[in-house]
Amino acid sequence: MPRLFAVLLLCLSCSAHAADSYLTRLLNKPVPGGVAVIDLGTGAVAPTARYDGKPVLVVREQDTWRAIVGVPLSVQPGPQQVSSGGRTLTFTVGAKHYPEQHITLKNTRQVNPNPADLSRINAELAVQTTAYRSFSPGTPSNLLLDKPVNGPLSSRFGVRRFFNGEERNPHAGLDFAVPAGTPIKTPAAGKVILVGDYFFNGNTVFVDHGQGFISMFCHMSKIDVKMGQGLARGEVVGRVGSTGRATGPHMHWNISLNDVRVDPAIFIGAFQP
Ligand code: ZN
Repeated sequence: MPRLFAVLLLCLSCSAHAADSYLTRLLNKPVPGGVAVIDLGTGAVAPTARYDGKPVLVVREQDTWRAIVGVPLSVQPGPQQVSSGGRTLTFTVGAKHYPEQHITLKNTRQVNPNPADLSRINAELAVQTTAYRSFSPGTPSNLLLDKPVNGPLSSRFGVRRFFNGEERNPHAGLDFAVPAGTPIKTPAAGKVILVGDYFFNGNTVFVDHGQGFISMFCHMSKIDVKMGQGLARGEVVGRVGSTGRATGPHMHWNISLNDVRVDPAIFIGAFQP
């Protein structure tokens, strides 16, 4: 009898799992800085969806349309709304703790920029924000991403950062500890929508994977692509370096959805709740 009970329990947990789709199980991490996967139903035509006034990535999984929504790091736990086809769909954001990191920089201008630096920083921010807000119609080649480099993580997403004791923006991406010169490969197919040399990010490339799903790589020693260039999955975009605000060579990678920076670890199966 206890054995039968155990088998029944096993079956129950099987069916509970089967209710979650593949994409939902892998990508649905509805926390600040995470991703919410929302069922938009079936239908012949792709529905559109918006979150916080911005268009959202919608993909088809078998016969079901799903919105893949980026949740801002600044959102408080609780209900959030996505609109689609005149309907309002609610999802709940849970809590997540992000640790602190203290970094010492010799170049104090990188902590407290002078007025000329600030005007440069603001102009660069505007250009990068425009890139993050672009929304091309193509469907991403893959949502489960390849790691752009092979190496251990040296800093996770969302870490609260203090430079020389002063709090600045939290870490918006993942850092990989790899030597200078290591080739950086695009984790999905895409198009180069921005190339630049920026005050904080150094040599930077933005790759648009489709529908607001965008990768950003920075601090590169060398850029190997041009604006507007189409890239196949795995093509090299540049080489690891330490340009911009960096304490040494490493690969920094951001992922953006609906102009929200989310944890890239979700897409490479390395998310830690
Ligand atoms: Zn970083």
